[in-house]
Amino acid sequence: EDIRVYEFAEKINRPISDVIKVLFSLGLMMTKNDFLGSDEIEILSEEFGVEVTIVDPKDAFNYEEDMAETIDENATKRPPVITIMGHVDHGKTSLLDAIRKAKVTEDEAGGITQHIGAYTIEQHGEAITFIDTPGHAAFSQMRQRGTDVTDIIVIVVAADDGVKPQTDEVIKLAKESEAPVIVALNKMDKESANPDMVKGQMAERGLNPVDWGGDIEFIPVSAKTGMGIDDLLENILLTAEVLELKANENAMAKAAVVESSLEKGRGAVATVIVQNGTLKVGDYVVCGSAYGRIKALIDENKKQIKSLKPSHTAVVVGLNEVPSSGEIMMAMKSDKEAKEYAQKRHEYDRNKELSHSTKSTLEDMTSMIAEGNLKSLKVVLKTDVHGSLEAIKSSLNELRNEEVKINIISSGVGGITENDVELVANSENCVLLGFNVRPTGSVKALAKQKNVDIRTYSIIYQLLDDMTGMLTGMMAPKF
Ligand code: GDP
Repeated sequence: EDIRVYEFAEKINRPISDVIKVLFSLGLMMTKNDFLGSDEIEILSEEFGVEVTIVDPKDAFNYEEDMAETIDENATKRPPVITIMGHVDHGKTSLLDAIRKAKVTEDEAGGITQHIGAYTIEQHGEAITFIDTPGHAAFSQMRQRGTDVTDIIVIVVAADDGVKPQTDEVIKLAKESEAPVIVALNKMDKESANPDMVKGQMAERGLNPVDWGGDIEFIPVSAKTGMGIDDLLENILLTAEVLELKANENAMAKAAVVESSLEKGRGAVATVIVQNGTLKVGDYVVCGSAYGRIKALIDENKKQIKSLKPSHTAVVVGLNEVPSSGEIMMAMKSDKEAKEYAQKRHEYDRNKELSHSTKSTLEDMTSMIAEGNLKSLKVVLKTDVHGSLEAIKSSLNELRNEEVKINIISSGVGGITENDVELVANSENCVLLGFNVRPTGSVKALAKQKNVDIRTYSIIYQLLDDMTGMLTGMMAPKF
């Protein structure tokens, strides 16, 4: 669940610096306000020898302390970063395009802009940055990695269609992130537009319109005609004003990766939004297990720029490998330092993949199965990435034959958790399979105590071989 570094330190009664030190030794560059992933929490819990159960992350959220870091005396105002979310076809892409088109400056007009994953516009001399990867997948992914760059969320609802399932999803995400919300009532040019219906639906979900006495702005817009775009931008700036967003331009740069890819001629590139400091051409940077020296910063107008200030965005050229979106990029003092952190991170990632297992209980089960008359082997499956999850699931299903079958009772992407162990412990004839994920010490201890067999693999055919063996053991002896 979502817990910040300082919250974790508070919970275990240790100085924040101790926690950060451990994270750094794992190659994870995190500061006290960053969110910890479940893997990090497990590893830290092991490292500090504590049992951590997280009740409600919101209770532990400390707004003042959160702000304390950014409002240092050298911090100055920075522009807001906006994410537009909403149900499919309600007009996210159209709105992002309309905003961009309405606000291209003189010298950019006619120039070719390219989609880099984010862009910055100016409204009456004030900058606003939009994350331009429609859908909330990118937002969720970044949050999962603990990268909360979004200051304000714009929820788009088509005024002729109203609240839809994905609208509910983004409302939930918005509430979790605690970023202020502005609702854009889109498609107001349509005759069937019914803003009051939408307001009613949103109010039912706790988003009360200002004109109904609530605190959420509902701005009627049309991405098609451009109506209301100015109004929306003004409201974004007003909301940002209240947030008093600040950053220190002179600090060592910290930025978040929004998009990344491998490009012909340029190599690994990443679009970043600067969170603090100023990112400059020539800076040594580390970004997860990638590192390098910034060769070029290219904005969405394909213009080369020298430096990038807080909340601004550009494509970074010069990394040795492609970082994941949501990864944090940090400027380092030297090439050596950047390389060291990248290597540590490599080791950390590799360690996560190392597999150990105990064979005994599996063998016990095989012989038990052979003696008895069991016809189904239950499996709980965890993998590191979605691709391998799907591949293994379909292969396991192919292993079924007329006599015995595999029954996948639970599967998912992520580390092996105590919940997984409990699930297996409470199911008869069940094994826990991990692919490129391994249990931590506490999970292992629980598994031992509950007599749960955890089998971890890093090669798919070995996993399938073992399961084939199990199934063979389960077949009734033929005479
Ligand atoms: P997304 O899936 O949320 O990104 O939605 P799109 O931006 O792709 O828009 C979906 C459809 O609605 C497209 O056919 C757009 O042309 C149309 N659309 C978007 N905004 C408006 C609007 O303000 N008025 C009208 N009439 N159509 C719109």
